[in-house]
Amino acid sequence: AVEVHDVHKWYGTHRVLDGVDLSVRPGEVTVILGPSGSGKSTLLRVVNHLEKPEIGHVSINGELIGVRRHGDRLKELSERAILAQRSRIGFVFQNFNLFPHLTVLENVAAAPAATGQLDRTAARQLARELLDRVGLADKAAAYPRQLSGGQQQRVAIARALALRPGVILFDEPTSALDPELVGEVLAVIKDLAKSGTTLVIVTHEIGFAREIADRVVFIDGGRIVEQGPPAEVLDRPRHERTRDFLSKVL
Ligand code: ATP
Ligand code: MG
Repeated sequence: AVEVHDVHKWYGTHRVLDGVDLSVRPGEVTVILGPSGSGKSTLLRVVNHLEKPEIGHVSINGELIGVRRHGDRLKELSERAILAQRSRIGFVFQNFNLFPHLTVLENVAAAPAATGQLDRTAARQLARELLDRVGLADKAAAYPRQLSGGQQQRVAIARALALRPGVILFDEPTSALDPELVGEVLAVIKDLAKSGTTLVIVTHEIGFAREIADRVVFIDGGRIVEQGPPAEVLDRPRHERTRDFLSKVL
């Protein structure tokens, strides 16, 4: 389970997250919606401690992320310990972020080999299985620049899976893609959702959210305005701000 507890994040006087509480159960798919600048990316980045909250904390399966208890205060973990935790949290970005100088297979095999989770042979074997799962077994030897955006994003998803993460965070995984490539990436994410992987997805794809989300969270101005099953939040939103947002994106 992912627990976000009373997280506040600010830059100077700008409150980007203003007391966010969120709880994602194992196997649950949570979709986060909200206008540009509402704090969605920052929230995901707090979850894997790419951003450190001024107040509040995150825990995953009971383990504090980025900090440890020190008396009644929280103390930052070492960089090494943070990296180890982060390696157990999948993160898929809008712009794929593949290593351009590595083949597709090496991109997927690199992390479990580097962290010592698997030896090189086992990492490559796992990478082949994961590429097969995202429909790219035949691209193992290609380089990222030789792939379409949709294919690159599927490699990025395979790479996230390679560390067998407890949760995968997606930050607008299809918004950099040409429209005809969106479907193939959503299909892979849908497959993960069905297999019971815990997913937190920031997306503007409302139809997709309706189809796969267990819960939709609408965030505005750094606060959760409302959350609930898609049939409630998307079809019968209770708040004016949610209605206003949905009328613009639908
Ligand atoms: P979008 O839909 O455009 O991706 P978002 O909901 O993901 O928006 P964030 O990227 O989380 O929004 O940003 C929230 C706010 O925090 C924005 O106003 C942004 O300008 C501000 N912000 C983000 N990072 C920083 C930073 N490093 N320094 C100052 N302000 C920041
Ligand atoms: Mg964002």
